[in-house]
Amino acid sequence: MNERSLAAIAAMCGGKLVHPAHADIAVKGVYTDSRQKNIGALFVPLSGERFDGHVYVEQAIRHGAAAALWQNDHPHPSVELPLILVEDTLAALQQLAQSYIQELPVQIVAVTGSNGKTTTKDLVASVLSARYRVHKTEGNFNNHIGLPLTVLNMAEDTQIAVLEMGMSGRGEIELLTKLVNPHVTIVTNVGDAHLLQLGSRKEIARAKLEIISGLREGGLFICHGDEPLITEVLEESETVQPASMKTVKFGLQAYCDYKPDAIMQSEEGISFTLSSEAFGPMMYRLPILGQHNVMNALAAIAVAQHFGVPQPLIAEGLERARISGMRIEKTVTRDGWILLNDAYNASPTATKAAIQVLAAMPKDDAAKRIAILGDMLELGETEEQLHFEVGTAITPEMADVVLTYGRLGRCIAKGAVTQLSADAVRAFDSKDELQHYFAAIVKEGDVVLLKASRGMKLEEVVKDWIHAQ
Ligand code: ATP
Ligand code: MG
Repeated sequence: MNERSLAAIAAMCGGKLVHPAHADIAVKGVYTDSRQKNIGALFVPLSGERFDGHVYVEQAIRHGAAAALWQNDHPHPSVELPLILVEDTLAALQQLAQSYIQELPVQIVAVTGSNGKTTTKDLVASVLSARYRVHKTEGNFNNHIGLPLTVLNMAEDTQIAVLEMGMSGRGEIELLTKLVNPHVTIVTNVGDAHLLQLGSRKEIARAKLEIISGLREGGLFICHGDEPLITEVLEESETVQPASMKTVKFGLQAYCDYKPDAIMQSEEGISFTLSSEAFGPMMYRLPILGQHNVMNALAAIAVAQHFGVPQPLIAEGLERARISGMRIEKTVTRDGWILLNDAYNASPTATKAAIQVLAAMPKDDAAKRIAILGDMLELGETEEQLHFEVGTAITPEMADVVLTYGRLGRCIAKGAVTQLSADAVRAFDSKDELQHYFAAIVKEGDVVLLKASRGMKLEEVVKDWIHAQ
């Protein structure tokens, strides 16, 4: 955001200046983290469960913030500070972002889904930046606070903003999508993350599909065509759709608009061919592994074609895409075994996808495929069953050894022994013991997958090898 007067900011967020004399103060930038020093910016104090940002307002201004918001149910500070009074600082932050978008000619692409949001967002931004000035969500700034901050950090001459939208319950995506009114929305898939909060996969699908309630008239909806729940929820009468919404599906089913003809995985990445009326059969290469990433790339191709990016530039954009860390990151360790580090996060869908990647990795006959799997959190009542099912999905062709970590990991191990021999499967409750065992069996040429929920910090099992690079 370019520099604006405090009076203009107050109008944008529906607030009122405490002291009219501060109307002309220049403001550039918005932030909420009191640990940052942000000279000339607007500090927005948020009230969390443990902290109330209002405590830091005076300090923020002393450290260079131009001004701050102030929630009017808080007693005014004794000193005269440049403040904008609002009813609710979070709502005001969101309104500020909404007003900012409404002022600009920017087009919005919004991405949600159980898995693959960040990857798809990165791929979409990469293919669009061949032709447009693009702004994208940094890292995972995808919630009711991160999204407005992402928007407010956008340069005024941005042509397309690619925004990730995350959720943990109903109503959250609706709020986000209505803040920004996207021109294009994407639902990458419907998995089982947040089953605990939502109760069923159908309810998860409904929560994801809230994204179309904010889509502009005539907007484009891109979704995973292999997921029947998306079609079911689209047909429900309570699903709000804008007039003349256009739907495009990607997937493996014959009726999908974007369906790869062939998928090839090598050690370096995955490639696929896709035929379209516009371009005929074309080859696309991704610098990342995993068939699920082909799906993410298909969504990116659909967006790029919508915005008229020429095919060779789309192919180039995919090939040079930079994906955020620990999403099936491949490293050859100094001991000569290959690590597929996917320990960033996990759910049953994502774990099964990662095991497919492990299965497709080329290796010497003598080498092993080792899956190290930990607890997948927040799955609710059926968590043990869901872990067991992941185990039963692992065949001897996919992995030679399965090592699990954690209480729920034990259920994966129980499932795995229905397919693998008992001595190929081991369950651990201690990371040290797991590491010790792993160090003894891993050999040059082996391929090792690491996958668990973020809370398990499973990457610690291989820290000796990674840090020693
Ligand atoms: P978060 O909810 O943490 O923001 P996200 O939806 O942004 O996650 P990514 O960070 O892109 O997802 O990917 C996380 C993991 O999900 C990947 O490492 C991969 O294992 C898996 N994944 C990515 N895309 C898909 C997909 N289309 N289908 C299934 N699993 C996927
Ligand atoms: Mg993400």
